[in-house]
Amino acid sequence: MKIKMLNADTINKIAAGEVIIRPVSVIKELVENAIDAGATRVTVVIEAGGKNLMIVRDNGCGIAYNEVPLAFKRHATSKLISIDDLESIESLGFRGEALSSVSAVARVQVTTCNETDEVGSMSLFEGGTLINQRVCSYGKGTEMKVWDLFYNTPARRKHLEKDKKEEVLIRDLLEKLALSNPGVAFQVSSNGRSVLSTTGSGNMLDVVSILYGGEVAAKLIPIHFENTPMKLTGLIGDLTTMRSHRDDQIFFINGRYVKNPKLSQALDGAYEGYIMRHQHPFGIIFLELPGRMLDVNIHPAKTEIKILNESLVMLLFRQGIRETLRHANLVVDIADGS
Ligand code: ADP
Ligand code: MG
Repeated sequence: MKIKMLNADTINKIAAGEVIIRPVSVIKELVENAIDAGATRVTVVIEAGGKNLMIVRDNGCGIAYNEVPLAFKRHATSKLISIDDLESIESLGFRGEALSSVSAVARVQVTTCNETDEVGSMSLFEGGTLINQRVCSYGKGTEMKVWDLFYNTPARRKHLEKDKKEEVLIRDLLEKLALSNPGVAFQVSSNGRSVLSTTGSGNMLDVVSILYGGEVAAKLIPIHFENTPMKLTGLIGDLTTMRSHRDDQIFFINGRYVKNPKLSQALDGAYEGYIMRHQHPFGIIFLELPGRMLDVNIHPAKTEIKILNESLVMLLFRQGIRETLRHANLVVDIADGS
């Protein structure tokens, strides 16, 4: 067999396969883009679990007419200039891969207008190629409409779950994004039915009330903890809100939702002596750490973040939770003399 270079179309589809695995991957990228664009209102519409249609509409900064084609090119981004910026990156996206990936495996129509252009534009992409771009009138912001996901990669389409399951994954993600962005009003509908609606008040507790009910929200204990280099905020449960599962232990590091079993263990551990073995505390916890202690570049989907000095972080984390419980008079540490 001779060695040959892959053609551009194949390269794009392979790259897209790493980022866009299912409908929720598309929603994640589009909604993160909306948040990065400074939106205060984000509307999400899905049909058939996102398999038939996904629309994400925002009132963010919009994209200039002549930058739309570039935005859909691979490695085109307005968010990262050099590798040195990675440590201090504050935006959710930075790889410049999402739009090119989505458009490589679906049909995408983008309608957008920025602050300075007099009129907006509507552009259609198919299989990663710009089919046409027209001028149109549009208020400031962006609408991304994605349909026929995986129309050109049928093997992937076949592997999707039932509509309901894909919808649950999308709702799960949007709930997390709503928690970490309480200043953004999210309106989410699925098959014409509203499934999530937040106010954008800026208060995370309002989002918690919507998701878990006012009764749970009223019982939660706020965290205010700082011990260099870590800062902790968020809410943890009292002893009456214990769960038999860890689904309601949600962690964010520097604003990004992360999956990290060690944090769950540390949270359970901080309640030691107050809960039974099968019980798990409720927790929506935001960790802030200096960028140099993290490697966010570990996986394209970015739900895993590598913490570089993990044992120190876990120690401080446990201390922060323990101290919060102590101030709430739930835990008395004899060793602390309190
Ligand atoms: P990244 O988010 O990593 O920069 P994307 O492929 O997701 O890469 O987007 C490419 C660029 O397109 C972004 O850097 C941004 O400038 C622009 N863009 C994408 N979505 C939006 C949006 N909803 N509003 C404004 N600009 C956007
Ligand atoms: Mg992006």
